[in-house]
Amino acid sequence: MENEKYVMIPGPTPVVEPIQRSMGRKTAAFKDPDFVADFESVLADLKNLWKTDGEVFVVPGSGTLAMEMAVSNTLAPGEKVLIISHGYFGDRFVEIAQRKDYNCTVLSAEWGTGIDTAKVQEELSENDYDGVIVTHVDTSTGVKASIKEIGRIVKEKSDAIYIVDGVCATAAEKEYVDPMNIDILFTASQKAFGVPPGLAILWAGPNAMDKREELGEITEYYGDFNKWLPIMHDPSNYFGTPAVNLIWALQTSIELIKKEGLESRFVRHKEDAQAIQAALEAMGFDILAEEGWRAHTLSNVLYPKGIEDEEFRNTLRKEGVVVAGGLGDYAGKLFRLGHMGNIDDHIITSVLQAIERTLHRCGYDVDFGVGMKKYMEKKYK
Ligand code: PMP
Repeated sequence: MENEKYVMIPGPTPVVEPIQRSMGRKTAAFKDPDFVADFESVLADLKNLWKTDGEVFVVPGSGTLAMEMAVSNTLAPGEKVLIISHGYFGDRFVEIAQRKDYNCTVLSAEWGTGIDTAKVQEELSENDYDGVIVTHVDTSTGVKASIKEIGRIVKEKSDAIYIVDGVCATAAEKEYVDPMNIDILFTASQKAFGVPPGLAILWAGPNAMDKREELGEITEYYGDFNKWLPIMHDPSNYFGTPAVNLIWALQTSIELIKKEGLESRFVRHKEDAQAIQAALEAMGFDILAEEGWRAHTLSNVLYPKGIEDEEFRNTLRKEGVVVAGGLGDYAGKLFRLGHMGNIDDHIITSVLQAIERTLHRCGYDVDFGVGMKKYMEKKYK
């Protein structure tokens, strides 16, 4: 009999039953008054929970669309942009910035570490910028930036629009829009919301909306805030067909988040991550992200000597856990384990035990239970 497969890549994350049921509902007309009311409640909740007096956009598309929307609605060609990168997704912004003809400077960290806020402070003291972009958690490295501290520095030193990529962080790592001086925060449905892929979610604070007005007509059509704004103010309006079932799924996810409490959810992710990372280290793995830079949403786990990536991940898959491979220079050297969204102790402990079984099957001398013991010690100390 085949093992049930847990999808433990850093997105899509496991979709729990109530969310699956919302996906499976009979699809309604998007002008159906009940659906319109549901969409309204989603938008109001997102605004309240992540604390902004600005706007929220929920648009069919993936996180990459949100990246593009974030910059093209707030920055004009030729404007100066500072990109703070600690991995593949930060670097992707460089490519986007080049295509959009921004005048861009990059502060790039070695993979496994981040950019010190002192360096950001120095850069912003010496040069004027129209935009500052940072990836909260870069999924390629598992490194987390100090977004609150960077927000404070950006607002102290400049009038720049502060953009935070929360794709691998939002709804798991601490983030609040206006209180953290964030002008644009964005994510996608398939990460810590635990909803299937297909929705781009953006929060745009008052400064971002003012900047959108200043820009006038932009070349983007589908990604233009001004095209979507009438729908976000009244979802019975039409621009592009809303992803009806995904919006219901997001509504259910938000209900679960409200039940748990956003702050408690942040704490759960922190405690889980620290215990999982300690358990993996006890088994003989190393974590790519240095202490102090580690995300709570995923772990990028370096193999011990003698373990081969393809064999390990294929065996782990047979043991019932699907993880992702490394990106860039770390392809073949590590696996990426997502631990964000709606995952409980049943899932986490099954995953840890499946990893132990896999190490054993790959010929690695592992003491069975060593990971579990560490996990329990760390989590219930
Ligand atoms: N930013 C980050 C930090 C990501 O992890 C990802 C996806 N892994 C993206 C952007 C792009 O999102 P998507 O794959 O949904 O387009």
